[in-house]
Order: sequence, then structure tokens, then C-alpha cells
Amino acid sequence: MAEKASESAALSPILKQATPVLAARGEGVYIFDEDDRRYLDFTAGIGVTSTGHCHPKVVEAAQRQVGTLIHGQYTTVMHRPLLELTERLGSVLPDGIDRLFYVNSGSEAVEAALRLARQATGRQNAIVFQGSFHGRTMAAASLTTSGVKIRAGIGPLMPGVAVSPFPYAYRLGMTEEQASEYALRELDYLLTTVSSPSDTAAIFIEPVLGEGGYVPVPDSFLRGLRERADRHGILLVMDEVQTGFGRTGKFWGHDHSGTRPDIVITAKGLASGFPLSAIAAPSEIMDRAWPGSQGGTYGGNAVSCAAALATLDVIQNEGLVDNSAQMGERLHKGLRGVADAHPVIGDVRGLGLMLGNEFTAPDGSPDAATATKAHRIAAEKGLLLLTCGPQGNVVRMIPPLIVNAEQIDAAVDLWSAAV
Ligand code: PLP
Repeated sequence: MAEKASESAALSPILKQATPVLAARGEGVYIFDEDDRRYLDFTAGIGVTSTGHCHPKVVEAAQRQVGTLIHGQYTTVMHRPLLELTERLGSVLPDGIDRLFYVNSGSEAVEAALRLARQATGRQNAIVFQGSFHGRTMAAASLTTSGVKIRAGIGPLMPGVAVSPFPYAYRLGMTEEQASEYALRELDYLLTTVSSPSDTAAIFIEPVLGEGGYVPVPDSFLRGLRERADRHGILLVMDEVQTGFGRTGKFWGHDHSGTRPDIVITAKGLASGFPLSAIAAPSEIMDRAWPGSQGGTYGGNAVSCAAALATLDVIQNEGLVDNSAQMGERLHKGLRGVADAHPVIGDVRGLGLMLGNEFTAPDGSPDAATATKAHRIAAEKGLLLLTCGPQGNVVRMIPPLIVNAEQIDAAVDLWSAAV
């Protein structure tokens, strides 16, 4: 395994590869390496392959589209996969959000949302929360506060981004309600001091803080954001890149609180691994972007759109949103059992199949070393996981939404042996 790791590291010296696995093929929730060793993939390519690796319906749709039309650029010609996808997404988006625009990655969609928010409001500033992750392109990195390495040495970043505390109940030593009240008070303070409402175009929030540590946003906090957005004419942008498409046990992460977004950003689970992302907004907002101000050569690629249509079919026909809720509950319970036996795991939390295990040293500080060790041992035992969190001390689990009870139990056993 070590030899193969150096082989792939040689391809890109700046690559940070967390395991030495060289993936040869994927099938359902499994990755197989070149020696045909099987790994339970509880990373899903960072939350992308929600229908599992190479779902036959997605493969078939993409293969059919490759032989029909690979690329037709929407500024010149429209194509059926894009039109059909737009109609289908319209039926799963919140009421009143009826306009869509496609790009290729989460970061590009975040950039598009920021551009749209500025154009629609005529204001410049944005508010984000401590621990936010919105991407690596320059504007998206400017909206990102988790992971100092992402921003180190690339400045100057975009001005006009104010950072407000996130209601991270566990680290604050508060209940969710107390954390929510505290963070809303801080936001009000920020709006009267650092970022005047009349200059603020948008508030960006992830319904479950992702790279920042897999911390679900309390419902009352999201409702509080909606109230402040309405009061000040600020747009509420839900970054559903990681939380959308059933990941949290409801179709959208914000569905848990019933909070209405102004702009929704989606990517990752949208097309089962084909590059596709989108922003969605009501026409009164979307129509304020001037033609030509958004776009990109590959946006709305026909094969990606066909894969996204098949992904939606699979999610709906195979009941994957409900499966995410049920299997998420089973995994959550299993992980709590492991944490009870291993006090180094101070908190287990999440929604649906988006769960984090936070490692904490006896003095209460984040314990990244033990988290990293458990993550490595899990991979050696055949369970692929990811880390995230304030200092890389949260081991997260984000399996494909097709995962079944037997696979969940197998993962919990492997995890228990790894900690
Ligand atoms: N927004 C969120 C919430 C994310 O989790 C990510 C990636 O992990 C991004 C944006 C950036 O997406 P991408 O890596 O596709 O650019």
C-alpha cells in the first residue's frame, strides 16, 4: 500500500491524500483497489456518489447521452437533458424558487450566487459564519473560514466579508437553544457595527456546517436568520452543496427548519459524480442578473444533466431520502455506542447520513492526533472515512444514500475496532 501511495503522490506533490488506496473500481457502497481489496466507502467521494458508485441507472443514462450529444452550449443551443432537469428540479425546490442556472462545481456555484446577490441588491458585503466552507476559488475562499491552509498565502482576498459566530453548541458548552440565542445576538451586534445592513447583500449559511465539523444548524437559528434577512432586505443563501439531495434525511438540509431560502446552491449529490452544480432563485431575484454576467463553457453539460436526471429518478424511486433518515438513525445510534465506550469521542452529531465524531482530549481541547489515528486504522481495516472540524479532530461519515443496515452495522464494528 505504501508503494502505491508514493506512486500517486509523485503525480502531484501538492496532493494531500489521506489514505494510500489506489481505487480500481467502485460498486454501490464499495471501492475496490487494484488488488481487488474491498473497502466500505463512507466518504462517497466527499458526499458526491449518493446513489452509490456506478449505479446502473446513472451509468446507462450517461452512456446513452454520450452517444447522442456530449456538449451543447446553452448560450447557443438548448438541449433536452438541461430543459428536463430544470423542470424536474423545479418540482423539488422550495415553492417560489423557479429559476435555475448551471455551472460545474460547488465553488463556481458559490461565486455565481454571490454575483447574483450583489446584482440583485446593489450591495457589496456578505456575512458568513465561523467554520464556514464555501470553496477554494477566490471569492468562495473569501467566504470560507474553516481550514487556514485553504487561504494561507493566496491573499489579498475579497473585502467586505464579515464573520459571525456559529452556534456550535458543543464547543460553546451550551445547549442548542442557548447557542442559537448567543449567535443571533452576536449577528445583531455585527449588523450594527461591522457590516451595515444597507451594505449587506447576502448571508451565506450551510444547513449543517460541513468542513467546519458536521454541526447541524439549530432550527431556531435558521429561522432567526430568515427574520433578520427579511427585516434588512438581505438575501439568505443556503449553501446546500453538501446537504442537498437527501443527505440529511430530508430533501434539503433547510427542510428540517422549514426556513425559506432566497438562493439555493446545489452540487455534489446532484449528478452522482458527474460535474454539475446549480444556483436556484425566484425570478424576481434571478432576473436581476444581466445576460452574460453568469456562465461558463461547460455549465449544464448534457451528459452531466442526463446523469442528474437519472440520479433524481433513483433518489425518488428507491426512496433514498427516507433511507437516509432511517440508516442515519441506525448509524447515529451505533456511533453513540462506540463513543460511550471511548471517552475520547466527546460528541457524536449530525443529520441523516451526515454524521461526525468529535475527538476531545481530557482537557477539553480538540484532539486531532487521535482522530487522525482512528481514521488511518479504519482505512487499514477496510473503512474509508474523512476528517473535518476545527482542527481536523472530527471524523465524519457520509456514505452513499443506498447504504443498508448490514453495511451500517459492519461500518460501526470496524469503527469500534479502529478507535
Ligand atoms: N460549499 C460547501 C458547503 C462544500 O462542502 C463544498 C465542498 O466541499 C463547496 C462549497 C465547494 O465545492 P467544490 O469542491 O465542488 O468546489
